[in-house]
This record gives sequence, structure tokens and C-alpha cells, in this order.
Amino acid sequence: MSKIDLSAELEAAVVAVRDAARVCQSVQRNLVSAATLEKKDRSPVTVADFASQALVCSSLAGNSRIAAIVGEEDAGELREAGAESVREKVVEHVRSIRGGQISDDQALDWIDLGGVTPDSSIERYWTLDPIDGTKGFLRGEQYAIALGLIEHGRVVLGVLGCPNLPGPGGQAGCLLTAVRGKGAGARPLAASGREGATAIHVSPIETTSAARFCESVESGHSDQGQSARIAAALDITEEPVRVDSQAKYAIVARGEAQIYLRLPTSREYREKIWDHAAGMIIVEEAGGRVTDARGNELDFGHGRMLENNAGVIATNGRLHDAVLEAVARFVDLD
Ligand code: AMP
Ligand code: MG
Repeated sequence: MSKIDLSAELEAAVVAVRDAARVCQSVQRNLVSAATLEKKDRSPVTVADFASQALVCSSLAGNSRIAAIVGEEDAGELREAGAESVREKVVEHVRSIRGGQISDDQALDWIDLGGVTPDSSIERYWTLDPIDGTKGFLRGEQYAIALGLIEHGRVVLGVLGCPNLPGPGGQAGCLLTAVRGKGAGARPLAASGREGATAIHVSPIETTSAARFCESVESGHSDQGQSARIAAALDITEEPVRVDSQAKYAIVARGEAQIYLRLPTSREYREKIWDHAAGMIIVEEAGGRVTDARGNELDFGHGRMLENNAGVIATNGRLHDAVLEAVARFVDLD
């Protein structure tokens, strides 16, 4: 049992993610998507990334008892000469939520609250991906604000804000939550507090031939050739659901797909803790199972990366062993 009040920490995380989602949505609404994509101009996502981290960190600083935050970003490059226009936009977005009195330095300092390096001396820390699925964000598709809480190397709480995933009741925007041992839930992203919250559960399907699987849109992030061979071996006939970000975990947790395959594209790549902490606990608490491609538990006790893992497999639980067996036949992980 955690020594801290995880239900209070959950509500702090929910407020933080909702604040950040408002900024991400506002930037995404203003994307002139075709032009942005053609120019390969990543500055909108850069602005939203930094502003999202500033908002989550400032919110946690006010509402959470846990001070350590391991975020994907730091404000170093924003402080450099030449970054003025991006910096100005970041600060403008932070002010739109926190008020016009916020100074540039305050906004940058909030971003740097997320600059903690995790090690075993830190009992518990938040890990944050301020925009997971940046490519989806730029395409106007799925992305997520992902916040997990790690305690003694184990994920104990997760919140995922998915602005483009339908929420309970059908309105745009879903917020998914989980606390270890307390189940997983979904709320409308735009609501306040626990308004509209419902419990979520994985799919009860027991045969792989009836299953749907999801994977990354990006072939560089997950080996799609291998997943197609594995799906065929499992008699899966439906096309894969290709979605950016941890929205894939949300889809499995809500029972809309039964399998999420993330198969390594190289031996060197190590998954980042903020890309999986929130999603993993949401699937587990919804009744599913998450391991790496070898069938090992994801091990969050080794700093910023999952040093001892390769790939990720998430399922509704019942199908997990069958999927792992097929993965072992096709994927060489030695
Ligand atoms: P997705 O939206 O599922 O494609 O995942 C996006 C995440 O993939 C990003 O947050 C990156 O941290 C991560 N990523 C970057 N390169 C790789 C890679 N080679 N293999 C797996 N994940 C990657
Ligand atoms: Mg990410």
C-alpha cells in the first residue's frame, strides 16, 4: 500500500492534464494542417509541448505532495538566443491558462520542474509526456497528454488525456485514469472533477481469431511487417487499427481492441518511461495485461528508459499467452 493518499494525487493529476489539454487543443485547432505538414514545420508541436509541460508542472507544484517530475522536455533550448519567437508563444499559451501576470522566467522555470533525473534515491516521481504522439498531433489525429506516478520503481497511478478520442457519453475528448488496485475509469475530458466518470473494462473476447489489434501509425516505431505475420498466425482477419500515441492503450482498456503490439524495429532502442507508464496501468486496471515482447514485466526501476525491456505487448489478458507465443515464433529478441 502506498503511504500517500493516491486518490488525492489522482485528482491533482486530472486537473494538471486537463489544463494541459486545453492548450494542446487550442494549438491544434489553429494548425493550418496541410501547410504545416508540407513545410515539415514542427514549431506548433514544439510550442504546445513546452506549454503543456509548464502547465502540468505548475499544477502539480500547487496540488501534489510529490515534487519530483521526470518530463520529456526541458527549457534549455527555449532560453537560448534565436528561440525568442517560440518562447514568446509558449509563454502566451501558459498565460492564457495561468493569467497575464506570469513572467517569461516563471513559465520557463515551470518547464524545468520536469527536469528531475530519476534514480533509486527518489522514492516517488511523476513521469510526463506533455504531448505523446506528436505526429498524430500534427496530422490532426490522436495524441495524448500522459502522466504516470512511479513509486519504488512501480507505476501506481496514471492519467491519459486524449483530446481526439470520444469520451463517455460520446462528446469529443476522453480522460482515462487508473490507481493501482482501484480499477480504471474514463471521464469526459471537458468536464470537471469526477463528473461523468465511468469504470472501464477490457474486452472479454477469448479467441484470437475474433480479435482486433492496434499498433503505431509509424513503421519506425513498431515493426508492422512482423505484426502482420503474427496476426496471420493468430487467425486475425481484421485490419490493424493504426493510431498514434498512448491512445492505443486507451483503446485496449475500453475493449475496442484486444491487442496492442509494439515490436522493436532495432535492438538498440529503449522505450521511454513516459511513453508507457500511464497507458500500462490503465490497461492493467481495466483487467488487461502488459509485458514486453519477451513476456517480461515492464521494469520502471531503471531511470528514464525501460532498460531491461524490448517492445511492448498489451492485451485484454485472456489472449496474452497466445500472443506471446506467436511473438516468440516470429520475433528474434536474443
Ligand atoms: P507512437 O505514437 O505509438 O508511434 O509512439 C510515439 C513515441 O514513440 C514517441 O513518444 C517516441 O518516444 C517513441 N519512439 C521514438 N522512436 C522510437 C522507436 N524507434 N521505437 C519505438 N518507439 C519510438
Ligand atoms: Mg511520447
